[in-house]
Amino acid sequence: MSTTTPEGPLKDALAQLARAAEHLDLSAGTHKMLATPRRELQVAVPLRRDDGSVAVYSGFRVQHNFTRGPAKGGLRYAPQVDLDEVRALAMWMTWKCALLDVPYGGAKGGVAFDPREHSDAELERITRRYTSEILPIIGPEVDVPAPDVGTNEQTMAWIMDTYSVAMGHTVPGIVTGKPLSLGGSLGRSMATSSGVAHVAQLALRSRGIEPHGATAAVQGFGKVGRGAALILAHAGVKVVAISDIDGAVANPDGLSITALGHYVDEHGSVVGFPGGDAIDPSELLAMEVDALIPAAVEGVLTKDTAPTVCASVVVEGANGPTTEAADTILADAGVLVVPDILANAGGVVVSYFEWVQAHQAYAWSEHDVEDRLRERMEKAWVDVTTYAAAHGMSLREAATAMAVRRVFEAHMLRGLYP
Ligand code: NAD
Repeated sequence: MSTTTPEGPLKDALAQLARAAEHLDLSAGTHKMLATPRRELQVAVPLRRDDGSVAVYSGFRVQHNFTRGPAKGGLRYAPQVDLDEVRALAMWMTWKCALLDVPYGGAKGGVAFDPREHSDAELERITRRYTSEILPIIGPEVDVPAPDVGTNEQTMAWIMDTYSVAMGHTVPGIVTGKPLSLGGSLGRSMATSSGVAHVAQLALRSRGIEPHGATAAVQGFGKVGRGAALILAHAGVKVVAISDIDGAVANPDGLSITALGHYVDEHGSVVGFPGGDAIDPSELLAMEVDALIPAAVEGVLTKDTAPTVCASVVVEGANGPTTEAADTILADAGVLVVPDILANAGGVVVSYFEWVQAHQAYAWSEHDVEDRLRERMEKAWVDVTTYAAAHGMSLREAATAMAVRRVFEAHMLRGLYP
């Protein structure tokens, strides 16, 4: 790791770990070991563009921890991706996998470019080249990528094909979040959203708010935000505002999520949706709603925006949307924050189910997947809320401490080699 003081999500992730290390009374050496990624790779990703010119992007894969099993984590395509962001996201994956007790460590990858400015053919070339570059350090028993911001099932299919061609045989277990026809799992595409929506309802009830008739605002209308909004709307929650990178729409009577989904499929953005009024995206975080669901990017609830939050609960669909300073402000204001490593863990849980199915060469029913997902999310919710109450902690502090303890205990059992 670099010796400069990190900013942004890595600063937040390290501060959260430091609190857990203090609570668990870990030695300075153990704390440092858990703060340090096991392996980092930075690669150049040259692209021949459709017009014949050449662009070169930076790609990263960080494997934070392998103590409990293969590293697991998404692949992000976004302009702001850098090594520190990927380090933070990889560390959060380690804690998330440990918290949900799936037998993985944590990893994350990214390529710094804007996928919206590239054709499908260019996206395929970027994905295949990036996969070739990181191929020596990934594998179904080593490190298994999955979709994240800017990537999807098609990206996973290209990674699977590139890896399989290099190996000389088909390796479905190299990625999760694949299309169903290539060995993807039923229930995976909605798994993160389903977990977010489920935990949001548990959180509302814990505050004495019945989800049916409650209100919610969702930031981000991608794989996570769109599904969460849809499931909540089906449960009777009025989703009164939704934003994406281009703008935001609101309707005090509740937006039709199905109609908004069709509109976005056609127009590429929520902007101009006729079923609501345009609002400034910054207004969404400050709306008077029961549940606020940031489901876009990290660092949106800050020392400046947190004081404006009027929601009873914040459910982190995104990874790292709340900075350390904002966490304190929200706690002081009595806002219940359900942390990312609990709230959005449904994706990695069903990724684990997909990986198990690939190893079994046997597909489970959607019912099996949903039941087992719900069971794990509910257990994690009960474990975290119970621990938080017992130790007088926030849900984030409790979740991080429980996860760090599990990784530490696994490390102690394995010992330090040599
Ligand atoms: P996505 O690329 O499918 O969608 C991202 C959405 O956020 C888009 O609607 C985009 O327009 C919007 N957005 C981007 N920047 C924004 C901004 N500044 N303000 C408002 N909206 C903005 O990505 P996704 O897979 O839905 O991931 C969203 C978040 O959820 C990320 O933090 C990701 O790490 C996290 N997450 C994703 C998964 C998964 O399975 N996909 C699992 C766990 C966590």
